[in-house]
Amino acid sequence: MDSQQRKKILAAHFAGINPDELTTDFEVFVHGMRQAKRYEQLKQWWEEMDALRVLRHTEQVMKYKSEVNKFLTNPLDLLSQQKDTIIFKDKPIGKTYSYYRTVLPQEIQIRVAYDTLIERFMTFLQHEKCAIRLSENQLTVTLFIPKINFQLENEWQQFIQFAYSEEELYKSFTLFVNSMKLTNRGFGYVHFPSVTEAMKLWQAAFYIATLKERVIRYPDNYRKAKTDEERESAFKSNREELKQLLDGLRTELRTNELNFDKAVRLSRRFNRTGSSQFSYGTVKPRSKKGKIEDKIIEILEEPVSHLNCPLALVDEIAQNHIHVAGDTIKNRCYSCGRHLPPKSETCYFKGKLEANRFVFSDPSQRLQSGSGQAQPSICLNCLVVAFGCPIKLAGGAIIVRLVPQTDEENQQILPEKYLQMLTLGELNLIAGRYLLINCREFVRERGGATPVSEKIGQVQYTLWRVARTLPSGTLEKMDLTLFAGESEIPLPTRHLVWLSYLQDSFSPRLIVNGKDNMRLCQAIRLIQKDEVIAAIYTLATAESTEVTPIYDWSYSEKRSLEELREKYCTLLERSSKGDKIMAKQAAFSYDVAALTGLTYAYCDYVRRVLEKSEPRDTVQREVKKLIEKVVNASFFNYEAADVLPRTRATMFRNDDNYFCYDRAKQLLKETLKLELSGREGQNEKGQEQLAVYFDDILNAYAELSQKYNKTEQRKLFYQLKLNLHAKFAPLFNQKGD
Ligand SMILES: [Zn+2]
Repeated sequence: MDSQQRKKILAAHFAGINPDELTTDFEVFVHGMRQAKRYEQLKQWWEEMDALRVLRHTEQVMKYKSEVNKFLTNPLDLLSQQKDTIIFKDKPIGKTYSYYRTVLPQEIQIRVAYDTLIERFMTFLQHEKCAIRLSENQLTVTLFIPKINFQLENEWQQFIQFAYSEEELYKSFTLFVNSMKLTNRGFGYVHFPSVTEAMKLWQAAFYIATLKERVIRYPDNYRKAKTDEERESAFKSNREELKQLLDGLRTELRTNELNFDKAVRLSRRFNRTGSSQFSYGTVKPRSKKGKIEDKIIEILEEPVSHLNCPLALVDEIAQNHIHVAGDTIKNRCYSCGRHLPPKSETCYFKGKLEANRFVFSDPSQRLQSGSGQAQPSICLNCLVVAFGCPIKLAGGAIIVRLVPQTDEENQQILPEKYLQMLTLGELNLIAGRYLLINCREFVRERGGATPVSEKIGQVQYTLWRVARTLPSGTLEKMDLTLFAGESEIPLPTRHLVWLSYLQDSFSPRLIVNGKDNMRLCQAIRLIQKDEVIAAIYTLATAESTEVTPIYDWSYSEKRSLEELREKYCTLLERSSKGDKIMAKQAAFSYDVAALTGLTYAYCDYVRRVLEKSEPRDTVQREVKKLIEKVVNASFFNYEAADVLPRTRATMFRNDDNYFCYDRAKQLLKETLKLELSGREGQNEKGQEQLAVYFDDILNAYAELSQKYNKTEQRKLFYQLKLNLHAKFAPLFNQKGD
């Protein structure tokens, strides 16, 4: 046990016992955690366990017992381990359990389905059993559970009752089919093995809703009605027909009348999208030689199936080894690789044991071995898991996975917690660590509408949507991966964070006059190349139809822009991790910021002097002229001296300049080894300020020309120019008078 694991174990232990038994050990533990600045983390663990009583108790302790006896032994030192049993003060308090995943599908859609189910199961164990994760990777998870005789299988069965309950299936299945068409032309009959009564009801309700659509709205008398009256009367007579049809079905199914009534009630929760998912050509009522009614009866009369737990104890690994998925092996599930049970065991199930749209995004294109079968075989388990997952690669949907980064102290930020806090209007669905994004913005093209994601690129679109939706603080703590078709594309954290700041600074529009915003697309692609300063410049000089321009009074936007300049350097540095080229680029970006701080002081001084006597367009022209001269320190000084009464300027540490100020100061102090104490001061607003001289600029340039070759210097000055232009955007955005 490492120290973090000890903390977790005691947290789970205290959450699991009766609050009356919370004694001095508990108080010492809570205070210890607070002293170690771990109190917030502790509260988060308990919140995840839904342990409200212990949380309330902790608040009492904090309020009324601010001191604890220093001589008491730290309870963390009273923990010991015998094999997998954890002992606290000579008493066993629980066990550690290591499980591995028995199912590792290759196909993205079904893998996401298994991942989400397991993640939900973990949450369930946290809530119900005060379980806590001690360690975790793609294959295994180790839990501590404050129980001695914990049986995974029992909990799994209870979890299935919960995950496939009426309400949970409404969220994962019904809302999903109501939200988007899975395919344009619809699909044929689908039928899943039901693991709960509620699952039967929802499946039957899905067909009843479809039947309604077919009988009431689809017939010619309704669709081709010429007047409102005709339509009204068609609606009435069709509704009567449906009523008789349903009454007939109810008697056909004498054993399950109550269930049938419930299914009819649930069928009202499907909207028009949900009711028209099936293909009109294949899925028809009996009167049109279809089988909808038969399906409803089949589903309601079928016995309940069993769903195996996709986790097993590591000790059982020999008997229950992991399978390889793929279509080369006969009589195996194409999705999970397990053996398909003999027909005699599955004959109660009237559906097809093969892939459908809910399992794979494009089921018919899977088989390469040419077995003559249209769809690959899928086992009962995979069908059930696929049914319960709302995340599907359909209709241009984008799936993004979020995995929390672990910091030095192994603290994890759980994405679920952040995602729950957001208003999810924009993001359609969230399941576990997956985010489903639908592209709802379209551009006009050749008379039609194209999703903007197709126009600007799926990766670019996803970067932008995610950056716009999640706060930068959250993004910085996550590793994100985009699932595009069958490939996985990592979305670098730094790109998302930078884009998030660009959004805060410029609020760019994605669509401008029915077309994609070229400037924004350019900026996104520059960000992907780590060209942050050029990206800022691109948006700072964009039209007011494309972005919200920055003005003098755009205080918070100017502040975010300076934060972005800082994040540009720090995240580049953090991402370099031994990559020499990137580390050099990071050092370079700090130098650009330092030179920006120095030269900005002069440019701004020139602006202030000119503004006293000159019209606005002259001020703009002169400042632009000065910025062009930054390629050469002497030219720059001559040009500035033309306007200025003296050679000394002042840098101010403003909100919108703090980073460049700090870098410039560091350059003077540490690189040029100047004594700054006589130059520093504070103005009347308490703002830090520093006097600089023409000589500082000459010396800084001389120093950097030693450090960089000619090409690098050109790049340095180019970036410096772009930076200054963006900094003076409020001036250049003023209309000349
Ligand atoms: Zn399977």
